[in-house]
Amino acid sequence: MAKQPMLKFVTVERDMPEKRDASARKQDFNEIYAEFAKAKAEEQASRCSQCGVPYCQSHCPLHNNIPDWLRLTATGRLEEAYGISQATNTFPEICGRICPQDRLCEGNCVIEQSGHETVTIGAVEKYITDTAWEEGWVKPIVPAQERPESVGIIGAGPGGLAAADRLRRAGVQVTVYDTHDRAGGLLTYGIPGFKLEKDVVMRRNDQLEQGGVTFRLNCEVGKDISFAEIREAHDAVIIATGVYKSRDLQGPGAGAAGIVKAIDYLTASNRLSFGDTVPEFESGELNAEGKKVVVIGGGDTAMDCVRTAIRQGAESVKCLYRRDRANMPGSQRETKNAEEEGVEFVWLSAPKGFSGNPVSGVMVQKMRLGQPDASGRQSPEVIEGADYVEEADLVIKALGFEPEDLPTLWEQPDLEVTRWGTIKAAFTTGATDMDGVYAVGDIVRGASLVVWAIKDGRDCADAILERFGANAAVAAE
Ligand code: FAD
Ligand code: SF4
Ligand code: SF4
Repeated sequence: MAKQPMLKFVTVERDMPEKRDASARKQDFNEIYAEFAKAKAEEQASRCSQCGVPYCQSHCPLHNNIPDWLRLTATGRLEEAYGISQATNTFPEICGRICPQDRLCEGNCVIEQSGHETVTIGAVEKYITDTAWEEGWVKPIVPAQERPESVGIIGAGPGGLAAADRLRRAGVQVTVYDTHDRAGGLLTYGIPGFKLEKDVVMRRNDQLEQGGVTFRLNCEVGKDISFAEIREAHDAVIIATGVYKSRDLQGPGAGAAGIVKAIDYLTASNRLSFGDTVPEFESGELNAEGKKVVVIGGGDTAMDCVRTAIRQGAESVKCLYRRDRANMPGSQRETKNAEEEGVEFVWLSAPKGFSGNPVSGVMVQKMRLGQPDASGRQSPEVIEGADYVEEADLVIKALGFEPEDLPTLWEQPDLEVTRWGTIKAAFTTGATDMDGVYAVGDIVRGASLVVWAIKDGRDCADAILERFGANAAVAAE
C-alpha cells in the first residue's frame, strides 16, 4: 500500500519558519521570518488532513485551492503546487507574508478543533512562490494576442495591479496612473519592510512593466490629469485609489508640532529604505530617534508605526489604545512581535489633549469597557478622576483612514458614493453607475486588506474582459 503522505498533524507539531531574535531584528528593516527549508515546508504541508470541505479555502477571499497545493508541496511536486497557487492569486508570495491568516485561512483550519495547531498555510504559500521566482517558474507576461481595447487604472496598489496583470495577460492595453514615483500603493509606501521586503514588490512591478503595462507615475489624477481626460482616453477606467484621509484627533493642543500622521511617518521611513533623501526625516520631524514616542490606535497601522519607531532608535515606544487587548483590531501576531521588540501597550487609554508645543505630553483618560453597542463590541467609557499625563515628544496618529471626496475632487458629481464616502460599486464586478467606470479595493470597501483588493482587481478585470467580448480564461494562463 502506498505510504500516506498527509494527515501528519497527529504526529508533527505546527512549526513556523524561524523568527529572528528581537534584539537582532530591531537593528534593521528586513523581514523577521526566515524561509522554510524544503524539508520543513514539506513536513508542515503534510500536516493537512485534506478536508473534503476545506474551511481554509472557503475563508480565503481568493478561494485558493489550499489542500491541493499543500499536498503537492508535501510530495515534492513544487512546480505544480506553484501552478495551482498562482491560478487564483496574483501575488501569492505577498499574501503569504502579510495576510492576517489567523482571521482567514488558518483561523478556519479544522485540525485546530481536534486540539492540534493549524497548518502553516501562509508560510507554505510564501515558500512556494519564492521558490518559483528562484527557479524561474514565474514566467514573463506574454499575451497570446494584442487586443485593441485600452483600460486606464487609477492607483497602482494591489487592487489596481491585480487588475492590470489580468487584463494585460488577455492582451488589453493597460495604463496605470499613480501619484507616487513607485508603483505598489501601500505595499510600497505603507507596509514596512520588516513585514514585506520591498524587492518582493518591485519585482512584481517590473514583471508588469516588462509585460507591457504602461505606468504613468508622479501623476495625480485630479491635478496632473483630469478624470475626464482619462475616461476619454480609454475604453474602461478602474478607480483603485485606496483611502488616505487620516482620521484626526480632537482636544486641546491637537495641532501642536510633533503630532504627526501615521501614513506620513511610514511613507518617510519606507522612502529611506529605498535610499531616497527625505527632508522631513532629516529635520527630525518624522524621525523617532532618541524620542519618547506615543502611537495612538490599535490597528495594523499602529503596530507598523510602533515597530518602525523601535527600529529608528526611539528612547521609548508606547501604544495607547482605548479598548483592551482582546478587543483591538490589529493582528495578535503583530502585537506579540511588537511586545518582543520592546513596545509597551497602554490598554484602555484614550487621549484627551496634548501639552506643549512642540508636544511634550499626552493627557490620557483611563477607560473601562461598558455595555456592547449595536455591533456587539463593548464601548469604552471614561473612568472619572483617573487622568494622567504620558510624556511624549513624538505622537503618531494611527486612528484609521477615510476616503477622499472623489466626486468633488474630480468634478464627477455622477460618481456615486455611499454614506461613508466609499465608491458605490457592484461587489462582484466593481461596476459603478457610470458606464465603463469600475472601482476596486479600499476605495470601495473602506480600509481593508491586500487580499481583498487583489480579489476585487481580478473580478473587475474579468468583468471588463467580458464587456470586451474577451475570454477571461486566457488571462488566467
Ligand atoms: P492602495 O494600496 O492604497 O493603493 C492606492 C494607490 O492609488 C496608491 O498608490 C495611491 O498613490 C494611488 N492614488 C490615490 N489617489 C490617486 C490619484 N488621485 N491619482 C493617482 N493615484 C492615486 N493589509 C493586509 O492585508 N495586511 C497587512 O499587514 C496590512 N498592513 C497595513 C499597514 C498599513 C500601514 C496600512 C495603511 C494598511 C495595511 N493593510 C494591510 C491594508 C492594505 O494595505 C490595503 O487594504 C490595500 O493596500 C488596499 O489596496 P488598494 O489597491 O485598494 O489601495
Ligand atoms: Fe491565506 Fe491569504 Fe493565502 Fe488566502 S491568500 S490562503 S487568506 S494567506
Ligand atoms: Fe488542510 Fe486545514 Fe484546510 Fe483542512 S482546513 S484542508 S486541514 S489546511
